[in-house]
Amino acid sequence: MLEHRVLERLEGLTELTTWRRRLHQYPEVAFHEFETTKYLTEVLRSMDIEVSHPGETGLVGYIKGRGPGPVVAVRADIDALPLQEEKEVEYASKIPNAMHACGHDGHTAIALGVAKIFSGLRDEFTGEIRLIFQPAEEHPPGGAKDMIAAGVLEDVQAIFGLHLWTSRARGKVGIASGPVMAASDQFKIRLYGKGGHGSAPQQTIDTVVLAAQLINNLQNIVSRKVDPLSPAVLSIGTVNAGSAFNIIADKAELTGTVRTFAKETQELVIAELERITSATCESFGAKYELEYVKGYPAVVNDMEMTEFIKEVAQDVLGPSGIEKQEPVMGGEDFAYYLQEVPGSFVFLGAHDPQTGEYQPHHHPKFDIDEKVLPLGVELMARAVARYLDRE
Ligand SMILES: [Zn+2]
Ligand SMILES: [Zn+2]
Repeated sequence: MLEHRVLERLEGLTELTTWRRRLHQYPEVAFHEFETTKYLTEVLRSMDIEVSHPGETGLVGYIKGRGPGPVVAVRADIDALPLQEEKEVEYASKIPNAMHACGHDGHTAIALGVAKIFSGLRDEFTGEIRLIFQPAEEHPPGGAKDMIAAGVLEDVQAIFGLHLWTSRARGKVGIASGPVMAASDQFKIRLYGKGGHGSAPQQTIDTVVLAAQLINNLQNIVSRKVDPLSPAVLSIGTVNAGSAFNIIADKAELTGTVRTFAKETQELVIAELERITSATCESFGAKYELEYVKGYPAVVNDMEMTEFIKEVAQDVLGPSGIEKQEPVMGGEDFAYYLQEVPGSFVFLGAHDPQTGEYQPHHHPKFDIDEKVLPLGVELMARAVARYLDRE
């Protein structure tokens, strides 16, 4: 019933492109979303929606129904990337070295659309819709943790989020329960040996040979230690050592990343990384320091909430619109909300199926097909309406 009213209101929603383009022209990077938050606050207030400002640049909108009832949250991330836009369009970024190249401008416009719809339906439901405008998704430690610490999930019973996904066509959505995005960690290993003349290796502990050996040994973690049914990646991204062709390097530094879905696999990789580094250094008589920084945990979708949003998505896009989402090795701090509250994070296709052309996320010519915006609003708003109705 409420869902029916949502569909009527959706027809009158004409501002989506305007909002999205305004956000796109004035992007702000992680933890600096001051003007963005100010703008969003104005828009929400014009709809008579109560707001709060957790943290420096966070924003929450509260749409309360005619009486107490369930609280359901929708999350949008509002930050841009430190990147110079190269696409020549009238709504291109006006800020040098800042660009919405991940679609967060679209996520935010969609959340404003949900706000607009329910702001006119307050007499027709009980409970509350909470709109979480979260800063700093792109920059670990991310903005989600602070928002949660500030209490934005208080009384929330379910949470939904989406990512516009340009490798998928508009009209399709990727949905899966369980882990859909990886835990993404980083590490640094400093190796300490003994330098000397390139002609006299017997007097040295060569950290270049050690680094080479260690890089090879570390490959055994994923190939020989991790359960093949539990995905993991360990990549060395940088190797730095040495200063001249005839000097044996006394130090070397490696950096890399680890991606996993299961917590046990993550812990296993960390333990093996330490063990193999220690043993390899020991065999050379070298010393080491290992720094391991855990990034966002894996995004793990709740089974029931995922089935729930899948049914809604089928009604929005038709059965052929639903695709199984394969796990993505990238990270997302939506993970933290899902550790607290059952919910689901879905991947909404965002390229024009007519042309089939698209750029990957974080590309300087990235763009979305704006016709996806009303679909995003419909999916989120109908999920919220159906959730409130069933309670
Ligand atoms: Zn991104
Ligand atoms: Zn993103």
